[in-house]
This record gives sequence, C-alpha cells and structure tokens, in this order.
Amino acid sequence: MALLEAIHKLSVLFMTALAPILPAASPKMPTGKMSDNVILMVGDGMGTAQISAGLTATNGKLNLTRCTAIGFQKTQSADAFVTDSGAGATAFAIGKKARNGSISVDATGIAHPTILEIAKQNGLATGIVVTCSITHATPACFYAHQPSRLQVENIAADLLNGSVDVFVGGGRRHFTQREDGRNLVDDLQAKGYQIAHSTDNLNQFKTGKLAVFTADLEPGRITENRGDVLVNGTQAALRLLSQNRKGFFLMIEGSQIDWGGHANETDYVMGEMLDFDRAVGAVLDFAEKDGNTLVVITADHETGGLTITNGDSKANTIESRFSTGDHTGVMVPVFAYGPGAEAFIGIYENTAIFDKMMAAYALRVL
Ligand code: MG
Ligand code: ZN
Repeated sequence: MALLEAIHKLSVLFMTALAPILPAASPKMPTGKMSDNVILMVGDGMGTAQISAGLTATNGKLNLTRCTAIGFQKTQSADAFVTDSGAGATAFAIGKKARNGSISVDATGIAHPTILEIAKQNGLATGIVVTCSITHATPACFYAHQPSRLQVENIAADLLNGSVDVFVGGGRRHFTQREDGRNLVDDLQAKGYQIAHSTDNLNQFKTGKLAVFTADLEPGRITENRGDVLVNGTQAALRLLSQNRKGFFLMIEGSQIDWGGHANETDYVMGEMLDFDRAVGAVLDFAEKDGNTLVVITADHETGGLTITNGDSKANTIESRFSTGDHTGVMVPVFAYGPGAEAFIGIYENTAIFDKMMAAYALRVL
C-alpha cells in the first residue's frame, strides 16, 4: 500500500509538473458578425446504427431529421485509429488532433484556447449541458486543459477560470470532496455563480451565471431515475445564454449513448438516443425561431460496433448486434441546421468541425 501511495504521489507530482499553462493569447474572432449563436450537440458514441435504431423506434420521427445539411467526419486521433472521447472532443474544441486521453492539449502537450474560451473572450455567453459528470472528458475539453482526462480534480479546478457561464452536469463530489481540501462549490458561489442541485426549478434563475449539479458522481440512466435533466438543462441554458446580445456558444452532450454501447445494451443505447433527440428538438425549436443560430449535431466516435441485422418497420423494432465493448474507427455523421449549415456537407476530419464553427461566427463578413 505504501509503495502504491508513493507511486500515486509521484505521478501526481509528475502530472503537476507537466500540467500546461493556460493559453495566453487567444485569436480574435472576425469582427462584423458577433450576433450568431453556435450550439454543438455531441451524441457520445452515436454512429449511424444508433441513429437508425432511434429512427425505427420513433417511426422515422427523430428530430435529427429536421437538419438540412449532412456530412461525415473521420474520428482518428493523433496516436490511435480508434479515438477516445478526450481526443475526440479536443478536436472539436481546439481544432487539433490530440493523443487519446488528452483534454484540449495538442499532440505535443501544448494547450490551445477552446472555441468556448474564444467565444467568452470575445464577449459571448457560454454554456455546457451534459448527462455525465461535468468533469468527464467531453465537457472538460471545452473549459479545461490537462494532459490526462484522469486528472479529474484538476479539471474541476479549471472550471473556476469562469469561462463557462451556465453548466449542468454531475460530479459534485469532485468539487466538494477533494484531496486539496478546497470546496469548489463555495468558490464558484464566491465568483458569482448561482448554485442548484436539480433541474426541476431552473426557471427561478432569471439571469446571470448558473452551476447545476445533477449528481454526486455520474447521473443515472434515463430509463432509471435521471429525469429530464438534459431537456431541462438545455432549455435553461438557452434562456439564460440568449440574453447576451452578442451571442453564445453552447455544448450539449448526450453522454450515455456511449455507455450503452460499452455495456452492449441496445435498450440503454435507445433510451439515451431518444433522450438526446428530445434535447435536439428543443434546440432546433429555438434555432428555428431565432433564425441566427447554427446547430451542429455529431458524435466523437461510434461505440460498440453496433449493427442492425433485421427489423420490423410496422412494429418499429430492430434486431441488433454489437461487435465490441469499445469504440470503433468508423466515420460518424454530422447534421447541421441554420446559417452556415452548408459548410458541414462533405467528408472531413473531426478537427474541421472547430474550423467550420469558427467560420460560422463570421458569416456576415464572408
Ligand atoms: Mg462523453
Ligand atoms: Zn466511450
């Protein structure tokens, strides 16, 4: 035990020494077009089979089908054909290929500003809504810079940099029961965040910064006890962020589609897929009314090697099979809606999602 402890301490020291410094200079957004909103929705592990399963279950009425432009992205990371969610979200967040496990540092370990940080530095409002802990790899990549996704307490501390105005997710324990003894929920409050521990009454928050902790660690499955945290959180984020007249950046993740894939449970995948699609519906309703919002819906990778071996279009059922308990290296679809959506047609690297979203913020000057 003592040896293990010593190794752990050494590795913490090592990681601390390696921890990258926050990015200094941030690129300026092109001026002349600061009123656009960009909403990136990530269905973690959502490949075409997961979508097909959802389509069949809803008799073709998935909200995703309201999108007008569709493309495919290649998900390979800097050091692996099959990416993890850290490298996958890093590609979206900073536009660079990274090594698996990285949190918004490039393949050489250098931190680069994320699209969320760039939006914030340019006066836009920012938000993150997820169905995992807020420190999990996908959300972390938008506000944190760490060499490893395992540095969960460092990732939580990075949230204190104030780049995220509204966030909804689990993982409260990484803020309150820490090795360094700090209580980051108190620190967030001191920085002006309103704090909530449920998404039930978010309408009471009329304006300002908001941190919503939906679980001590990981929120439950939608088919068990999670409730409408994704849709409620999404609607609260849209309401608060859209008060900023310059615009906003919002990342929403259906985090557990991936976990259903890892578990090789079709019902788990399907429940999470349909929950994610309800959030897609809320976002597209907002974008339709607003007219000035680009929505991009994609996955970081496919999970489970899911395939559909048979089905019944009348009974809306499928027969399916998984080929792995891990992620796979297939291309994943990208759905886009709103001004700038056409840019997402085609086949491109996952890093191009960052470039295309950045370009969309400058639509009127192009
Ligand atoms: Mg994820
Ligand atoms: Zn996964």
